Amino acid sequence: MSRVVLRVAQIVGVLVLAGLAIGVVLGLVQWLIGVAVLVAVPVGAWWLYQRISARNANAVRGSTPPKAVTSGDRRAELERRAVLDASGRCGWCGSATLHKDEFGFPTTPLAFHRDEIDAKLKPST
Ligand SMILES: [Zn+2]
Repeated sequence: MSRVVLRVAQIVGVLVLAGLAIGVVLGLVQWLIGVAVLVAVPVGAWWLYQRISARNANAVRGSTPPKAVTSGDRRAELERRAVLDASGRCGWCGSATLHKDEFGFPTTPLAFHRDEIDAKLKPST
């Protein structure tokens, strides 16, 4: 009689252990799925953000006006005139004296006539 009880207790013990093991495995799988979802949501959001911002960058680059090159040529041409010539005169206005900035320090013709150069460039199309 006691042998049968021991046998039943042994089977019950094995079943309980198996149930515990299955429970642990299932819990682990659920935990892994939860972690995967938690990781996938921010990664997916980041991936979407990267794709959208890359498309926006492409759109901005495509809309850059090509006439910027020609206005740069005009600026370079005007800036070449705003230099001191061999005799020390300003090539822009012909003044023989050094130009001075608002603090009284000598400045280059280019810096002194910057506003006039910009004004000449503005209406050019
Ligand atoms: Zn000048």
